Amino acid sequence: MGKALIIGAGGVASVVVHKCCQNPDVFEEICIASRTVEKCDALKEKLGGGRTKIQTAQLDADNTDMVIDLIRSFQPDVVINVALPYQDLTIMDACLETGVHYVDTANYEPPDTPKFEYSWQWAYKERFEKAGITALLGSGFDPGVTGVFTAYAQKHYFDEIHTIDIVDANAGDHGYPFATNFNPEINIREITAKGRYFENGEWIETEPLSEKKVYDLPEIGPKNIYLLYHEELESLAVNIKGVKKIRFWMTFSDNYLNHLNVLQNVGMTSIEPIDYEGQQIIPLQFLKAILPDPASLGPRTKGKTNIGCIIQGVKDGKPKTYYVYNVCDHEECYAEVGSQAISYTTGVPAMIGAMLIIKGIWKKPGVYNVEEFDPDPFMEALNKHGLPWQENFTPTLLD
Ligand code: NDP
Repeated sequence: MGKALIIGAGGVASVVVHKCCQNPDVFEEICIASRTVEKCDALKEKLGGGRTKIQTAQLDADNTDMVIDLIRSFQPDVVINVALPYQDLTIMDACLETGVHYVDTANYEPPDTPKFEYSWQWAYKERFEKAGITALLGSGFDPGVTGVFTAYAQKHYFDEIHTIDIVDANAGDHGYPFATNFNPEINIREITAKGRYFENGEWIETEPLSEKKVYDLPEIGPKNIYLLYHEELESLAVNIKGVKKIRFWMTFSDNYLNHLNVLQNVGMTSIEPIDYEGQQIIPLQFLKAILPDPASLGPRTKGKTNIGCIIQGVKDGKPKTYYVYNVCDHEECYAEVGSQAISYTTGVPAMIGAMLIIKGIWKKPGVYNVEEFDPDPFMEALNKHGLPWQENFTPTLLD
């Protein structure tokens, strides 16, 4: 049915490749392209020989011309960008130039400023409309499934949504004293930034990790959750009409936060270049180089993740509450695709987004966040492709 160019060959890309190969009727051919071609070749080695034909290519996705050349030679229907957020714009430019659909899982962030927001990518809307191609932004889990969950709640259960609390819990244990579950640079930049939430049309800023609660999560139990800013808050605040409050919460263990505090206090999380023995290095990038590779956590991680949305609002004039969540088991993910649940919960929705575009179900010219499409086919696909969800109409609320 279609061809996908997958850019990146890290933890998330590996899951996308596995999932595309599990769906050869849709993904007849894929090309895995990344900076380090050996990682692409290793994936081909592992998964080649099935019904999905696999090619690999060396690619520097910071170079738009190189991406254009590869698109012209491979002729994909869709590009799945699971490299880093820094490459979003160069890849979108290449898609515009060649008329190919685009999917990603994280919004653009300039490499030298820890500031992620949709404005840069939303600015492409008119050009994508004119080119007749779709850009689907943030088709991972959060952002991604959390937006689909909210759109599903809006469509089926609420006349008006007033409050959304997204709770992202990882009760996995990889046995290392300190490691991040996805790209350490992106992860630490996100956590060390100030917290922010949306209330009554305004953004309220909080000191990093200063807002803490305990929440008892299904299949995981009570955990400390901390308020963070997360990119889906920006798009949900625009796309969910009438919403009054949106917050994002993530679990961190005391051990994780102690390590992070020390690293921060000694300057290891800084993105300001320093001179080291005549060479410029960025402490956070050096830290990334010495921390365990997230892709190596798979075989060691035990336990579960639980990510979901607790939603409050009104239906037929009466108050209503709704909690929709997915529980994912690290060891089961590893047994299926050789990756832990964080990569799995991101890679599966990226594949689903691309699949819905190839099938023409989620295809409309322009630049869209996931919650702007009909959630039903995506929700159905989640159940089918490894991320089943559960509902609770009487959840414990956070306030
Ligand atoms: P990894 O660091 O494991 O992988 C990133 C891959 O991109 C690597 O293969 C890397 O190559 C490649 N890459 C980096 N720069 C370039 C470039 N200039 N040109 C070509 N390839 C490049 O990250 P993850 O797999 O953990 O994360 C992938 C994406 O998923 C990130 O954008 C992350 O923010 C996002 N994400 C989204 C989530 C969600 O729920 N929405 C959750 C988790 C992650 P090399 O091997 O040479 O370093």
